Amino acid sequence: MNVRSQVAMMFHLDKCIGCHTCSIACKNIWTDRKGTDYMWWNNVETKPGTGFPTKWEDQEKFKGGWEKPDGQLVQLKSTSKLKVIGNIFHHPHMPSMDDYYEPWTYDYQNLFNAPEGADQPTARPISMITGEHIAVEAGPNWDDDLGGSPVYAQNDPNLDGLTEEQKLQLFSVEQLVFFYFPRICNHCLNPSCVASCPSGALYKRGEDGIVLVDQKRCRAWRSCVAACPYKKVYFNWFTGKSEKCILCFPRLETGQAPACFHSCVGRIRYLGNMLYDADRIEEVANLPDEELIEGQRSLILDPNDPHVIDAAMKNGIPEAVIESAQESPVYKYVIDWKLALPPHIEYRTFPMLFYVPPMAPVIARRRESGALDAVNDELFHDIEDSRVPLQFLANLFGAGQQGHLVYALRKQKAVRWYRRALTVGDVSLEMAEQMLAEADCTPEEADAIYKLTSLCTFEERFVIPPMQREQALASLSDPHEAKASAGFGFLSGPKRGS
Ligand code: SF4
Ligand code: SF4
Repeated sequence: MNVRSQVAMMFHLDKCIGCHTCSIACKNIWTDRKGTDYMWWNNVETKPGTGFPTKWEDQEKFKGGWEKPDGQLVQLKSTSKLKVIGNIFHHPHMPSMDDYYEPWTYDYQNLFNAPEGADQPTARPISMITGEHIAVEAGPNWDDDLGGSPVYAQNDPNLDGLTEEQKLQLFSVEQLVFFYFPRICNHCLNPSCVASCPSGALYKRGEDGIVLVDQKRCRAWRSCVAACPYKKVYFNWFTGKSEKCILCFPRLETGQAPACFHSCVGRIRYLGNMLYDADRIEEVANLPDEELIEGQRSLILDPNDPHVIDAAMKNGIPEAVIESAQESPVYKYVIDWKLALPPHIEYRTFPMLFYVPPMAPVIARRRESGALDAVNDELFHDIEDSRVPLQFLANLFGAGQQGHLVYALRKQKAVRWYRRALTVGDVSLEMAEQMLAEADCTPEEADAIYKLTSLCTFEERFVIPPMQREQALASLSDPHEAKASAGFGFLSGPKRGS
């Protein structure tokens, strides 16, 4: 067992109001420089929708992440050193400016300097790349709130596998529905961006798992941009270096939550440490799709287990970090309650950002059994009747499999009804408790879920481990280990594509 520590994250999608405050907080701090104009380390997408960059989930087009061909070991989907050299002048799977958008500003000076005329002067958009006037036709959030639009939502790759009837249901105007999907770099356990870099510029910090780009070593290969299936590495066209979310590590190191977490209006974001077994990543990455969620969970270790604590301390993990892992809210949602799921686990990067899936509105229909008041009523009918078809959510959060998703939704629903029975009183407590039992949840667990979801304090949402970097480096036996092998022994394992 090779115990490592990782700062992990959880976003509760049922609470996101799509206000984009998180994106702006990040933009103001980190990407308000020349060459970073088009970068959104944090962005909030409307689902169904095409996202940013457009159709980033279409791995037939972008070939990001890892794949496991039949009978072979897992390998990078498109990028290898040989291919990088072959594609040096043109990478066929690299997103282009058309997939992002041409960054622009406005001709504000014209408002002051325009000659006198019959019309009010305007500030026309100007390309920040060419300096010429442009007609804006795309932006970072172009399909915001257009969940039913045939132009955008119907191009969502997660619609794969839905029946025509389900698609019709999703896009009929009266039943139109969407939810918000905030995204940052997942600081993955098995990051394809790191594995793809010919210069070794990307690395995963040994002590906390944050994935970073060493600006001095970056040689502008841009393999990371192509290899990240979430398209969370960006190329700075001005400096000629790749950049990405740094999880506000300077803030974390001084005990503050990342800016997007701190500013989140819906309080949907949670952060806490998790311990994992780096020796098993390769084994789990080779599992079939349907076993990946369980496999990733099995990598995460119980921070209260004496054997784990022993192995962690032998590996130089400070006691205070282990204690913070024991308090981690992310561990509770992911492992204890199994409510939070990784996005697109089939990319096999093992994201360490997990999502509680949204409870979508239900389709109104007349219930033959009348009001929902009988113990034997269809307790969970509306999960199957959700306006967002389960298969859509399963494509996003379950590699196409519905099992783990349905488990999480049933438990969420049971907790809601239980709280309703306790506080509003229009649902019988007996039925609510039966729902809890059917959803594999005890009343004590329901109370804990309710409290951490709805009544949580700042300190409960963000359990930030102590991160004195100097101490962390000193505690690692090999100083290069903090950067080079980066907490997982995977890079020297399977081949990097062929
Ligand atoms: S999400 Fe982040 S860590 Fe994961 S592959 Fe992409 S850039 Fe790398
Ligand atoms: S600030 Fe929070 S609630 Fe608002 S869009 Fe971002 S994640 Fe959602």
